[in-house]
Amino acid sequence: MEKVADFRSDTVTKPGPGMLTAMVKAPVGDDVYQDDPTVQKLEKLMADKIGTESALFVSSGTQSNLLALLNHCERGDEYITGDQYHVFKYEGGGSAALGSLFPCPLPVEKDGTLSIDLISKSIKPYDVHFPPSTLLCLENTHNGHVIPLNYLTKIKDLAKSHRLKMHLDGARIFNASIASKVDIQEITQGFDSVSVCLSKGLGAPIGSVLCSNASFIKKARRWRKLLGGGMRQVGIIAAAGIYALENNIDRLAIDHENAAYLAKELAAFSKISIHSAQTNMVFARFDESIDVHQLALQLKLHGILIRPSRVIRFATHLDITKEDIKLLIQLLKSIL
Ligand SMILES: *Cc1c(COP(=O)(O)O)cnc(C)c1O
Repeated sequence: MEKVADFRSDTVTKPGPGMLTAMVKAPVGDDVYQDDPTVQKLEKLMADKIGTESALFVSSGTQSNLLALLNHCERGDEYITGDQYHVFKYEGGGSAALGSLFPCPLPVEKDGTLSIDLISKSIKPYDVHFPPSTLLCLENTHNGHVIPLNYLTKIKDLAKSHRLKMHLDGARIFNASIASKVDIQEITQGFDSVSVCLSKGLGAPIGSVLCSNASFIKKARRWRKLLGGGMRQVGIIAAAGIYALENNIDRLAIDHENAAYLAKELAAFSKISIHSAQTNMVFARFDESIDVHQLALQLKLHGILIRPSRVIRFATHLDITKEDIKLLIQLLKSIL
């Protein structure tokens, strides 16, 4: 089979021989009875990395964020978040459908943050007319952007002074840590819960982990069962997550280098302008004169997959090599 270079997302990676071997060899048990040693090992490993007391392996980042929202908020409570953040935009409105929660979405700034002033103004004082502002949800990285540490310090102070709980959608938190060379616990400290994806740049086929204190995780475990997310001999999948944590964190730096290289090469085209290029994501605007759907079809003939749009997101990951990028650039040169 001809090699396919899939730039559409970092979720498309397939487990390699090392990861598959780890999955085959994993000791398993019934995880609903908390009898699966591989799941427990993964949860402990992730909790230690993120710096929390406990952790819970879940099927997806969407489920992980939903569990956090259901845990932190009561029916009718409000959570403040970004209008472009995954938790608000791409999770099917789960918090409203299943938790009767009220989102307060704020515009996301260019750097991926939310205005501190706007957050401040959005926190409702106690008043019978208002939904109680209970939770602030941030995302790091957002569209590849690493949220600056000094911003996080300010936001944590603000949340504390208003007794607002804080959840971090850290789907790509390891990208943030590697790119900024900041210890991951410096980023996560002060958050009441953190969700991490194993199935993005870390390269596992399935799964996320929700991290928090033990009583929070106990409650989340019940919500997970209620949502149909109690899985049985799931150590087979957790083993891929352990393998990812043990082998694929430091190599994220390669994805970041590749993204920077791709951005530099794309910037040389007169009909392409770079919107942003951070960590493992490049957002490139293609001139109106280019039929992006046609372009995607042409690239596909050569084994390169992109998601056509006026602004195309290119994601680098462990199944994208520098040679793939060179091929993409060469094809763009001949097509454009
Ligand atoms: C992918 C993603 C999620 C959700 O993960 P799924 O496993 O696809 O449900 C949540 N937040 C962010 C920022 C993501 O990129």
